[in-house]
Amino acid sequence: NRRVILKRYVTGLPSEDDMEMVTAETTLAVPAGSAAVVVKNLYISCDPYVRRRMTRHEVPSYVPDYVPGEVITNTGVMKVVSSGHPDFKAGDLVWGITGWEEYTLINNPKSSIYKINYSEFPLSYYTGVLGIPGITAYAGFFEVSKPKKGDYVFVSAASGAVSQIVGQLAKITGCYVVGSAGSDEKVNLLKTKFGFHDAFNYKKELELEGAIKRCFPEGIDIYFDNVGGATLDAVLPNMRTGGQITACGMISQYNLERPDGVRNLFYFVAKSLRMEGFLVSRYRGMYQRFEEEMAGYLREGKVVCVEDFAEGLDAAPAALIGLFTGRNVGKQLVAVAWE
Ligand code: NDP
Repeated sequence: NRRVILKRYVTGLPSEDDMEMVTAETTLAVPAGSAAVVVKNLYISCDPYVRRRMTRHEVPSYVPDYVPGEVITNTGVMKVVSSGHPDFKAGDLVWGITGWEEYTLINNPKSSIYKINYSEFPLSYYTGVLGIPGITAYAGFFEVSKPKKGDYVFVSAASGAVSQIVGQLAKITGCYVVGSAGSDEKVNLLKTKFGFHDAFNYKKELELEGAIKRCFPEGIDIYFDNVGGATLDAVLPNMRTGGQITACGMISQYNLERPDGVRNLFYFVAKSLRMEGFLVSRYRGMYQRFEEEMAGYLREGKVVCVEDFAEGLDAAPAALIGLFTGRNVGKQLVAVAWE
């Protein structure tokens, strides 16, 4: 069983040397008398929070830090190979928490994996639009941002897994939506494939605050923040009075030992702004409603998605690192096996 382990705790931008491919003995049969399942991993997901778990936190984080020497875990799409649990049988397709390896023994399947309900869509969608990024976008936008028709919405890391969906949900709601992204290719995707009203390449702008003003002469009602740092700072003076900032993530900070300062905080006072963070785990109970609604949007073509496939487990470390250099175009995942 080939697997990717964390070799050592990471500081700064992770390198491929921080991870290692090893081979471990794994039995494909469930231990006698246990309610575990063994799965074959088909797709594994690369997500920015995986990087956060590679650092040792003095104050415990919202998810446990990885332990050097142990396999990296995250969500994926899997096929059940053997099962001691009455709700799962060999051949079932499932998604949920698994390991960055060929086969994984899952001891508590009821609390960590779910049957795949909609076989009409590519299985890989359960790492993205029908998985954690999708429900993050859905809950973060509808439950936290609480948009109204006609709102001016700005989204950062806009072509990524979460935000490509946020932008399209904003359009469905009747909002005016603009995205920022780190390459002309991504900006083009935003405007053509995802239907954003406007988009700009933040790496080419000399001055971010002005670029945002150019796109929102009347100001922003909702900022869906995935990056924090300089972008958040440049957004604050461009917010409308009473505007809402939804803190979904702050990827610009994940490799820093000391967070960047945000200077424009007084705009919270001057413009009566609100900022609310959230973790998708809070909205676990909403999954079924989300899945049904999103499946409908996908069927009708109201939501489309772009995925970026890395081939094989060996490619997983570089794919993860690529999230922090902007190498990924769309939802980054790794194809481990083709069924
Ligand atoms: P993406 O698919 O958006 O990939 C990450 C992207 O971030 C990169 O492609 C890059 O795009 C951009 N990026 C990287 N470094 C920087 C930087 N320094 N400044 C600005 N942009 C940068 O990832 P996800 O959609 O999976 O995640 C997006 C955000 O959502 C993350 O912050 C993540 O932590 C958060 N998240 C939060 C959850 C929650 O429960 N609150 C759940 C899931 C995700 P570009 O080329 O445009 O720079």
